[in-house]
Amino acid sequence: MRFTLLKKKNANPLNGPKRFPVFHLVAAGTVAGIVGIAALLPDDSSPDDATYSVTSTPQLSSSTTQLPLTKTDPIAELAQTMEIPASEPTEQQKLDEADWIKLKVGKGDTISGMFQKAGLPARIAIAVANAAKARNGGKAFNRIYPGESLQFLIRDNKLAKARHIHNRLRSTEITRTATGYELDKLERKPDIELRYAEAVINNSMFLAGERAGLSNRTIMSMASIFGWDIDFAMDIKKGDRFNVLYEEKYLDGKKMGVGEIVAAEFTNRGKAFTALRYTDQDGSTSYYTPDGRSMRKAFLRTPVDFARISSRFNMQRKHPVLNRIRAHKGVDYAASTGTPIRAAGDGKIIHRGRKGGYGKVVILQHGNGIRTLYAHMNTFRSKQKKGGKVKQGQIIGYVGSTGMVTGPHLHYEFQVNGVHRNPLKVKLPDAAPIAKAERKRFAEFASIVLTQLRGQNGVQLAQVDKKTDTLTQ
Ligand SMILES: [Zn+2]
Repeated sequence: MRFTLLKKKNANPLNGPKRFPVFHLVAAGTVAGIVGIAALLPDDSSPDDATYSVTSTPQLSSSTTQLPLTKTDPIAELAQTMEIPASEPTEQQKLDEADWIKLKVGKGDTISGMFQKAGLPARIAIAVANAAKARNGGKAFNRIYPGESLQFLIRDNKLAKARHIHNRLRSTEITRTATGYELDKLERKPDIELRYAEAVINNSMFLAGERAGLSNRTIMSMASIFGWDIDFAMDIKKGDRFNVLYEEKYLDGKKMGVGEIVAAEFTNRGKAFTALRYTDQDGSTSYYTPDGRSMRKAFLRTPVDFARISSRFNMQRKHPVLNRIRAHKGVDYAASTGTPIRAAGDGKIIHRGRKGGYGKVVILQHGNGIRTLYAHMNTFRSKQKKGGKVKQGQIIGYVGSTGMVTGPHLHYEFQVNGVHRNPLKVKLPDAAPIAKAERKRFAEFASIVLTQLRGQNGVQLAQVDKKTDTLTQ
């Protein structure tokens, strides 16, 4: 295992991914291009509507130019406007906090039992539960689960406030007033910090990812983002490498977990693939190449998970049941009965029923004269019907052995204008690119993110895919 491009004097690969603030931009020439990004970045589309925080960073390298934090730095501006100033608790608040009775919910605990432990009679528990229910508090004070906690503030022998802490991010607080109870739902947002990691693969992508400090989740995400272009089981070669910009979530300075991959570059056998996570103005998020093409194909290569190919596309095959030469115009995937079968692409169900030797079969009509067929199903997915629309990846049925078969498998066909094509080899069209109306916004976004991704270490990828060059020139 070797780590690459660690030019930073103080960068230690064993410390995992290095931290850097979101506003850390390295090349002075990029500033002009990024003005206005505050308006571009989605302000409410990240999964947790997270606060982007700014942290101070050590000077990473003498060869790195650190830009001063100025008004023209839109990411910094964004970070500032989104930062909630941390106010010191007042003396009174500190005192109050010490007065709270804090009880963890254990197995078998009941709500009234918890109130009793706090010295409160069952009728108060009932009143609070009813008040919470009436004020649309959901399950607060009505259902408790081990690992949650209930907290009580008692003043003058009366319940003044109670909190139901659901988890680290969510709690419900009830306050007694002159007229009854007031309910507040408290939601905390984790701070999001961007992290950068890179590695050269020696034997496995997984090991390289782990050594670079990536979580399993991030490694898996990377595999799924690039999985359309790279077969991670077959194509990975020693010397392949990746660099990735991803989110980490923090609460009170403590790491809570990882978020999404913001951008990543994977060089497989000398060819670089780059993916940027973009949320459009309608709020839909996907990964795109820097020139706005979708990282996804319009079709899944394999419509069933956890399957092995048991028979390939072959115009000269001896049929296992008929025992004579008969073209096999599809691919068979052996899988256990009940394994979900997914729609290879967005489309319309044009057939759903029995069809001779195919047994139970679904045929989908897609755009551009493409049809896909899924045969020998055990059962169809419920609540779908002929004429209905399905999305790529949506389950349409389950593997079985209906029709003329020797064992449970999916027989999958791919037809273009009525001609059978080999599903394993046919060139799959890309999913929809960035819409015309989004192009300018996307280009500005891509320019910033690429600067962040590539500027981290001055990575100069020797053989950057042509398509990735267009926006960085
Ligand atoms: Zn078959």
